[in-house]
Amino acid sequence: MGRVFNFSAGPAAVPQEVLEQAQSEMLDWRGAGMSVMEMSHRGKEFVSISEKAEADLRELMAIPPNYKVMFLQGGASLQFAMIPMNLLAGKTGADYINTGAWSKKAIAEAKRFCEVNVAASTEAESFMRAPSQDELTLNSEAAYVHYTPNETIGGVEFSYVPETAGVPLVADMSSTILSRPIDVSKFGIIYAGAQKNIGPAGMAVVIVREELIGLADGNLAAMLNYKTHADGGSMYNTPPTYTWYLAGLVFDWLKRNGGLAAMAAINERKAKKLYAAIDGSEFYSNPVDTSSRSWMNVPFTLANPDLDADFLSGAGERGLVTLKGHRSVGGMRASIYNAMPEAGVDALIEFMGEFEKRRG
Ligand code: PMP
Repeated sequence: MGRVFNFSAGPAAVPQEVLEQAQSEMLDWRGAGMSVMEMSHRGKEFVSISEKAEADLRELMAIPPNYKVMFLQGGASLQFAMIPMNLLAGKTGADYINTGAWSKKAIAEAKRFCEVNVAASTEAESFMRAPSQDELTLNSEAAYVHYTPNETIGGVEFSYVPETAGVPLVADMSSTILSRPIDVSKFGIIYAGAQKNIGPAGMAVVIVREELIGLADGNLAAMLNYKTHADGGSMYNTPPTYTWYLAGLVFDWLKRNGGLAAMAAINERKAKKLYAAIDGSEFYSNPVDTSSRSWMNVPFTLANPDLDADFLSGAGERGLVTLKGHRSVGGMRASIYNAMPEAGVDALIEFMGEFEKRRG
């Protein structure tokens, strides 16, 4: 069997060219006589790999010089805790926007550390849209405002960056980072688990405005303190070297393919045609308000859920895999990150049409 079109939400597809490059460098990285995974993180070879990855990410996202970029373990979930641990700095509360399953997890974790003011929630509407700026009840005394620009499970994405009147804005960009250009200067912290648009699992990328580093209590465990990692260039302890290297190959691939503006154009096109296929049928549906539909995660249901298993097996026979929706939602979900070629989306749309004709 050849390579499939993998619609997994994460760990997710990695560009084939990147995998081929990693394969060709697996045994002997550029004359070093060893694999990247065998190298000391402090040796000159790995230091050059890590520095190039950071420089390429800075270039791709146009990260201003007053931001640190950190490559940390613990995934996005550890950031749910590290954010309050590092940013409260004597304040008692933080604002959280609740748009779905991942916002709720971030809120639950923050409640261990501070008072959470839910600045807006669309839970009463089953999280089918992002709230508008006018709906946000922000507290000027909040240590920060946290939101989830893209809810990976619900497929709900903000079409704007919230205005927070000087309070640092913290964004869990796990499932939307690198999908399009953004203005990093609007954010205090951007963080993302690597296993969707960055590379393999095992790492989070955390981009922090320098003034937010060093606010934590000195008693905080070193590994939980942003200052430790900022001062140590993410090498206070042994970092996830191979994941960092693979992320660097992905950043290089993005640069070679036109950067984030090019990705945005392709991603918008892929998403639009998939939503058009869903909306144009009587058989498939997506409940998310058109203003808040995700470019990255497209959940959809079949008119008759008894056909879900047949849909999945028919898709699988054509090499369209991991389309089963999250267990909390049911139905299907197509995650179409940067590494999903447009041909994969076209093949899915074609299969959906045929399945509807045959079984709908
Ligand atoms: N936030 C979002 C939006 C996610 O999609 C995920 C993972 N699916 C997480 C946080 C948790 O990430 P991790 O598994 O890296 O802790």
